Amino acid sequence: MSKNNDYTIKNSKKNLRGKREENIMNTKYKIKGLDCANCAAELERAIQKVEGIEEVNINFITERMELKYDENNEEEIMKKVKKVIKREEPDVIIEKI
Ligand SMILES: [Zn+2]
Repeated sequence: MSKNNDYTIKNSKKNLRGKREENIMNTKYKIKGLDCANCAAELERAIQKVEGIEEVNINFITERMELKYDENNEEEIMKKVKKVIKREEPDVIIEKI
């Protein structure tokens, strides 16, 4: 009886530890080469669709882009974001601030 109980407890602890925590980070970028506010809004919509992106804000006037994403997948997410930018706005350059 008690052996069975121990086994159950060990198992549930393992499950808890195996759960990966999300760490959403907010990163700012300088964004250069957009020619109007419409293009900025369109690019924003395209980036919002990237898997792992929580939130995106592009300000055409200040040339700033803010991204919220899971820090654990930063490399993979940014690779996809840059791919979307290249496809939608090939002349646009982003630079982490
Ligand atoms: Zn435009």
